[in-house]
Amino acid sequence: MNLRQSLEEREEYLLSPHAARSAASRGRLKPEPECSLRPAFQHDRDRILYSKSFRRLKHKTQVFLAPTGDHYRTRLTHTLEVAQIARTLARALRLNEDLTEAIALGHDLGHTPFGHAGESVLAELLPEGFHHWEQSLRVVDVLEKDGQGLNLTHEVRMGILSHSKGRGPFLPEERPAEDLTLEAHLVRAADVIAYIAHDTDDAARGGVISPEDLPAQVKEVLGSRLSRQIDTMVRDLIAQTTEAGGRVLRMSARVKEAMWGLRDFLYERVYDNPEVHADFIKASKVVRELFNRLAEDDVFYLRKVGSLPPSGERVRRVADYIAGMTDRYALQLYEEVFLPRPWAAL
Ligand code: MG
Repeated sequence: MNLRQSLEEREEYLLSPHAARSAASRGRLKPEPECSLRPAFQHDRDRILYSKSFRRLKHKTQVFLAPTGDHYRTRLTHTLEVAQIARTLARALRLNEDLTEAIALGHDLGHTPFGHAGESVLAELLPEGFHHWEQSLRVVDVLEKDGQGLNLTHEVRMGILSHSKGRGPFLPEERPAEDLTLEAHLVRAADVIAYIAHDTDDAARGGVISPEDLPAQVKEVLGSRLSRQIDTMVRDLIAQTTEAGGRVLRMSARVKEAMWGLRDFLYERVYDNPEVHADFIKASKVVRELFNRLAEDDVFYLRKVGSLPPSGERVRRVADYIAGMTDRYALQLYEEVFLPRPWAAL
């Protein structure tokens, strides 16, 4: 028996009956021999961590555009906080930590530069629309490793795809669908827990809100400090889910309502704040103009993206290229293409 098999055996008796098992995975996109050291989901987690798209998350916007302050979250630190919360939850509920962590680390790989400003421009310019969770799956399936993809397991891929945000419900009250694991649901909950807490923290850091402004119900139930907020939400989810038997994720009505209250507050005061929003309008212009130039100028496309594809595929390739950009790369490229350069020769 190799080390992977003995780790798989360990999962068998350590994990809850509702957890996903590495050995029972529905397999990879293309069959390949499994690692002798690491179970499948652990291997997937490592593949995501070593990918170039993962490293680029460090220069992608979370809420504040290309922040120069060192303490603001970026897409990378957001992802790490989600993974941290998700792993705490998975361990407490005896779910598969490797699967949870792989989904968490991969869940935002498809985000465009400039956050939702970039995403809405691509959604408008592509005939089939654009959603970052579909792009995340495209990154791991086809774009990474120069077009080979990471060849991940079905469970990690579906976990990444099932991830969506916005103002919809974040805690499905039903059992996961056939091809979705409880671990995928857990990451969705961890994402909301992470972002409502850290966006509040960053908004206060940026002087957009003051912690005293939080609605009374939020302050009373979740508190105004990040550590207390996360602790309250995590403990509530663990206690309620365990009490209900662990088959479905649960939270108490009191904590859920406070979370909705905090999310609504963030939309109103931070995400739709005119001051924050003003730069998003400028960022949209950057994305739109780069897109149009890459779609129309053959020489520029050849220089930046590669050989010219059949005309029907070009806008898709342009969208992939733009979606992969960091904020700072997009700004540099915009400057290079659209702004005059001072003459430097003496
Ligand atoms: Mg996220």
